[in-house]
Amino acid sequence: MTNPTAMRTLLLNPGPVTLSDRVRAALAGPDLCHREVEYENLAAEVGRRLLSVYPAAAQEGYTAVLLTGSGTAAVEAMVGTLVPPDGKALVAANGVYGERMARMLAAQRKSHRLIAGDWTRPVDTDRIEACLAAEGGFTHLLAVHHETTTGRLNRIEDLAALCRRHGLSLLLDTVSSFGAEEIDFSGWPLEACAATANKCLHGVPGISFVLVRGEALRRPSGATSLYLDLHGYHAGAARGQPPFTPAVQATWALCEALRELEDEGGWRARRDRYRMLAGQVAEGLAGLGIVPLLDDPEALSCVLRAWHLPAGRAYGPLHEGLKAAGFVIYAGQGDLADRMFRISTMGAVTETDVARLVETVAAILRRAA
Ligand SMILES: *Cc1c(COP(=O)(O)O)cnc(C)c1O
Repeated sequence: MTNPTAMRTLLLNPGPVTLSDRVRAALAGPDLCHREVEYENLAAEVGRRLLSVYPAAAQEGYTAVLLTGSGTAAVEAMVGTLVPPDGKALVAANGVYGERMARMLAAQRKSHRLIAGDWTRPVDTDRIEACLAAEGGFTHLLAVHHETTTGRLNRIEDLAALCRRHGLSLLLDTVSSFGAEEIDFSGWPLEACAATANKCLHGVPGISFVLVRGEALRRPSGATSLYLDLHGYHAGAARGQPPFTPAVQATWALCEALRELEDEGGWRARRDRYRMLAGQVAEGLAGLGIVPLLDDPEALSCVLRAWHLPAGRAYGPLHEGLKAAGFVIYAGQGDLADRMFRISTMGAVTETDVARLVETVAAILRRAA
C-alpha cells in the first residue's frame, strides 16, 4: 500500500513524466476491445488531435500512425518502413539517439553512413555536405530534433536546406520535442517524424506514433519487421482493426493529455511554460556555481538541460540526496556519465517544485563532499 500522506515523487528525468490528476484519472477509462467501434473512435480522436497539435501537419496531408511501444519503437518503425531496401540513409548524430538510428539501419541491413559528431557540439553540417558530395545514392537524411543526451535543440533548418539541395527526404526523431518545440511541417522536407505519449505530451508510456506524409505510405514498405511496419498499423486503423493489441489504457491517457494540451493553449504555451521553469532551474543552479554542459544559450531546448557536476562531487550522492527529498534527476550517458547530470521540467511540475529543488541542491552542496 502506498501511504497517501507520503511526499509525491516528482520525475525530472526525460520521460516518463509526472502525470496531472486529469491524465491519471483517464487511465481508469472503460475497458475496451480494440476490435470494437469504441476503440476505433478513441484512436481516431487521438490521431486527429495529434495532427492538430501542429495544424500545418493536417494541412500538408500527414497521417498519424499509432503503435504500441516506447518512443524507440516509433523511431524504428519509421526508419524501417520509410528507408527502402535499395535506399541509402545518412545519419547526422551528436548524441545517443542519433547514433541509435544508425544501429537500427545496421540491424535492418540497410545502406547508411553515420556522421557521428562530438556530443557537446552542433551537428557537423560541413562533414555531412562533404559526405554527400563524395558519394551519391542517398535517399534520406536522419536526425534527432531535440538530442536528449545533452539538451541540445538541433538546427533542423540547416539540415532541411541540405536535404533540399541534395533531393533527400528528412526523417526526424522528435520523441523529446513533439508538443513543446517548433516542428515546421510546411517548411521542412519532412517525410515523417516519430514521437511518444510520455514526454512533452504528458501521457503515460505505452503508445507512440509516427506522423508521415500520405504519399510516403503509398510506396511499398521497407520494413524488415512484422511488428514495426507502419503500413500494417495504417491499413488496420483504416478498417477499425488494429493489427495487434494496443495499450488501450495508455490510449485513454494520451487522448486526455492531448485535450489538456489544447486547453492549456497548445505547443507554444507549453514551450513558454517549459522555458519559464528551465529558466528558474538555470538561475537557481547558476547561483550555486553549477555550470551548464552546453556553452551556447541559443542551442538549448526548453525541455531538458544538462549540467556539469560541481567539482569534487559525484552523481550518486546528488541523486540520492534529491531522491530522498522526492526528486528524480537523470544521469549523463556514455563518456559524459561521470561528468554531468540532467534535469527535465516536463510533466506536472510547478514553480514551487522548482524552488524546493534548488533549495535541496543547495542543502546537499553544503554537506561535506
Ligand atoms: C526518450 C527518447 C527516445 C526513446 O526512448 P524510449 O525509452 O524508447 O521511449 C528516442 N529519442 C529521443 C530523442 C528521446 O529523448
